[in-house]
Amino acid sequence: MRNSLRVVWVVGMLAALAGLLHQKSAAQQPLRAPMPPNLFTVHKLTDKLFIIAPSGPDMSNIGGNVGVFVTDEGVLVVDTNYYRQRRNGQTVAMAEGVVAEIKKLTNQPIKYVIDTHHHGDHTGGNPVFAKFATIFAQKNVRARLVGGYQSAVKSAPGAVAKAEQELAAAKASGNTVRLADAQEQLASAQNNLQMAQSFDPEKVGPTVSYDGELMFHLGGEEIHVYHPARAHTDGDSLIYFKNANIAHWGDAFANNWVPVIDAGSNGSSLEWLQFIDKGIQLVGENATMVPGHGAIAKAADVRRLRTYFTNLQASVGKSIAAGRTREQSMDEVRVPAYENLPGGSARIRMNVAAVYDELKARP
Ligand SMILES: [Zn+2]
Repeated sequence: MRNSLRVVWVVGMLAALAGLLHQKSAAQQPLRAPMPPNLFTVHKLTDKLFIIAPSGPDMSNIGGNVGVFVTDEGVLVVDTNYYRQRRNGQTVAMAEGVVAEIKKLTNQPIKYVIDTHHHGDHTGGNPVFAKFATIFAQKNVRARLVGGYQSAVKSAPGAVAKAEQELAAAKASGNTVRLADAQEQLASAQNNLQMAQSFDPEKVGPTVSYDGELMFHLGGEEIHVYHPARAHTDGDSLIYFKNANIAHWGDAFANNWVPVIDAGSNGSSLEWLQFIDKGIQLVGENATMVPGHGAIAKAADVRRLRTYFTNLQASVGKSIAAGRTREQSMDEVRVPAYENLPGGSARIRMNVAAVYDELKARP
């Protein structure tokens, strides 16, 4: 499970890294395709606060919900989406697309960015935003971002070698679909390798870290940044716009998704309950809840996620009490109501494993 998560993370990181390479060589090698016109949907929550959300049903692949707070003292942004991403055989400039959407909303400069956590679908665009903004995050985020880039540098050559082998096998098979897949896989891996070799991971934000709580006073608004507990990772932030009464949860609340307990990044289903309880207490029952992915929601929707975890913990607890192994629990514990949501049963299995490890380790 940890390995799978690491693979997911590295792939996400490489997708982010791939963009950097393109940026460096943009003059000689323009993007293959223009930005799809409907890549993002902008939701206006107040006159000042907007959510730039990925459009379409496959939102799991196109980055997190970006929060944009516009004031006459500058713009504050929550999360930066991917840098650039391979989509349908093309390279799409995701973070630059987000900036373009912000420029449609205001002429004010983008001054501040808060990363809700380190995953590439929320921070991949940091290098774009770091050119004009200061990036803030909980203190564990920076080390995980830098470490993620460093491991991507190590894994990129192996990914190219593997893709070359698959291309040779695909050619020999005469299967045109497999060949097209293999060509895309190699193009992507080569981009990642080139980029990984030319990128300095220390240059990725955040450049300012906090631990307990951070506050911004901007445009007459109080913006509170909380880290109530570990949850999806050990660096999750909950961002609360007090006057607007709107909270951005990052991936500590993904709406109508199977949540990811990133155990490899010290995420915790047990502490996640505290994150939700303290979080709702801090922002209040009536706040508008913006998830890291999915539709804008209410406190009841965040509580539904809490129930997912308490039910899962109870089921896995029973499985452990019955003497089942980790593998047996992964095979046997089912959550039918979540199996058709993004992430599906594969992610539920990973969650079972993570909860199993947590419950076993508990004194
Ligand atoms: Zn995440």
